[in-house]
Formats: sequence, C-alpha cells, structure tokens
Amino acid sequence: MEIRVTGLTKHYVSEGRSVKALDGVDLTIPANRIFTLLGPSGCGKTTLLRCIVGLETPDDGEIRIGGELVWSRARGIAVPTERRGLGMVFQTYAIWPHMSVFDNVAYPLTVRGLPRAQIAAKVAEVLRFVQLEGMERRPATRLSGGQQQRVALARALVAEPRVILFDEPLSNLDAKLREETRKELRRFLGQLDITAIYVTHDRVEALALSDSIAVMRAGRIVEIGAPRQIYFQARHRFVADFIGRANLIDATVRGHAGGATQIDCALGSITCAPSGHAAGSPVTLCLRPEFLQVRGGTVEGANVVHGQVESIDFVGEVNEAEIRVGGMLLLARTAPDAELAVGSPASIALAPEHCLLVAA
Ligand code: ATP
Repeated sequence: MEIRVTGLTKHYVSEGRSVKALDGVDLTIPANRIFTLLGPSGCGKTTLLRCIVGLETPDDGEIRIGGELVWSRARGIAVPTERRGLGMVFQTYAIWPHMSVFDNVAYPLTVRGLPRAQIAAKVAEVLRFVQLEGMERRPATRLSGGQQQRVALARALVAEPRVILFDEPLSNLDAKLREETRKELRRFLGQLDITAIYVTHDRVEALALSDSIAVMRAGRIVEIGAPRQIYFQARHRFVADFIGRANLIDATVRGHAGGATQIDCALGSITCAPSGHAAGSPVTLCLRPEFLQVRGGTVEGANVVHGQVESIDFVGEVNEAEIRVGGMLLLARTAPDAELAVGSPASIALAPEHCLLVAA
C-alpha cells in the first residue's frame, strides 16, 4: 500500500513559542517496502509518523494511504485512526503487563468483537509467525525485552494492517539484543506483503533494516535513497555526515579531466570521483574513515597525503587512528596489526572512487 504525503505542515506552540515540526513535507512511501525516517532528535520524524497514523492533526497538506485520501485540510477530510488500516509498534511496546501474551495479542480483535474461535486461530497464527508459540499464557512481564518487542509486533500484525509503523521500537534493548531483534524484524517483514514505516535516529539500524531511507532535518526531507546510495552517494553535507562517520573537508573544484574531478583543499590537490559540480564551485570532500589507506612512514604516490599519527584507539575489530595532515585531523579505521605508532609519520592513499564530493 503506497503512502503519499503532500505539502504537510505542522507547528506546535510550546511555552509561547511556535515550533515548526513539519515544514512542507512531500513524500511517497512505496508499497511493501521498509521505509525509514531517519534524522536527529527533534527533526519531526515522530510528528510525521503520528500525522500519518492520525494521532496528530497537521496544519495543512494531504495524506493518502493506498490512493485513499485520509486527511486534507482543504477538502475537510479526516479519516479516524482506527479506519486507516494501520498497525503500530511503539518504543515502549505499550503492552499490558497485567495481561498474558495471548490477551495482549488478541486485544485488537477482542475490541472488534470477533468470535472467540476466530480470535484464537488468528492469535495462534501470528504467535507462530513471531516465534512465540507456547508462551500464550505467560504474563507479559515475564518476557525478555526482545520477546516483549515480538509481542508488540504480533499485536500490530494480528489485525492484518495494510501498513505497519514503528517508532524507535528497539531503543529500549541493549546493543546485542537490538542487533538480533533488528535482523529478526527484517526477516519477519520480508515475509509479509506489507508497507513498513520505521522511525529511528540510529543510522546503523536505518542502514541495516531499510529498503529506502528519508533523511530529515528541521521538519523537512533532505534526501531519500536506498541505504547504499545514501551512504556512498549522498548529495548533501548534512546527510553524508549524519549517515556515517566522515572526514568533511571544504574544497573548491579545479576542473574535470579523464573521468575524474580535481579539487583543491587543505590536503592539497586531490583527484576525486567524477562529479557534476562546476569548476570554481565550493564543495565538500567526504572521506569515510574505512577507505583511508594508511601506512606507516613516508610513501610517495598519486593522491597520497602525508601526516603524523596523533592517536590510536583500539576498538575491537579495527583501530581508529587520528592522523594530523597540516592543520587537519583525519580519522581512519586501520587494521589492528597496521604498523603505526603515535608521533610517527604516516601516509594516506586516497582512492579517487572513495573521494566523494557533496554540496558545500
Ligand atoms: P526524537 O527523535 O527526539 O523523538 P523527532 O525527530 O521524532 O525527535 P518530533 O518528536 O517530531 O521529533 O518533534 C519535532 C519538534 O516538535 C521538536 O522541536 C519537538 O520539541 C516539537 N514537539 C513535538 N511534540 C510537541 C508537543 N506536543 N508540543 C510542543 N512541541 C512539540
């Protein structure tokens, strides 16, 4: 079920101040995909989600779910939440501690007054799907965080919604469980023909889980793309910075030649991946730490810059090294066995295909 949002605005008044939570959002969320709204705290993700669900009333604009207009100020349309065919999973799971797993999951069907046998069959089916069969009678409080999350998912799915919405559903889980549950969720959703809208400020979660990511800032959509596209070919400095760790360097385009773009920056003259930025225009050079090829000593070569190792942090699979090049400090991820020592010289080879240019 495709969702289309056009010209959506929403402001709040808080302590006498007006806050623009949504500032003219235009967005098409494709059917049967996992679509993530990603952005820093306060950028408007939850507000947008709540407007789609119908828990928040926008100021202006339109919302369509599967072609049906569910909200329009101009046309005076406001379809109530329960008639929008949506399921929702919240950060807090919102499952009821005094109820059993079965009763929690059955709840949306019970309030609709479905026959008991039908409810039992549907609940059994969905509990099997989220791999909680056999736990029907257990009080919801006697479940692990990951299991509670699955109860919340089962309850959102039991009414067979057209669209399922998630508001930071994994943020209460510890790091390891969050990773496991994220993979599980991806697998569950992949087996269903359902449109999923997922809100998070966690870039790793967004990259790993989504078919498509919309990066938001200050009530607006900045950029939309597949995870790899957003990570490797961001068009905006804000997006390049938000989606992963990056060395961002102010630069000016010198010109284009031989299928490459030449730039001038504090590192010197650097050959980059071809870009459409005109000669003379200001750009930002984005260097991901994992693509800096760092070697100890002074090695000469094309697109090689020289500096001094300022720090090395061992963080497990990799080392994180800071290399001072002129007045700049570049972050690099290096193999734990790379022969680098703090205070000694280092050379960094920059592969042109990993020198991404984004708007200044
Ligand atoms: P987070 O990741 O922290 O949940 P978010 O991107 O989901 O943030 P929103 O919760 O949508 O952001 O908030 C957008 C803006 O609107 C923020 O500036 C927030 O303070 C403000 N806001 C949200 N809800 C209200 C409210 N009920 N009253 C006043 N201001 C609000």
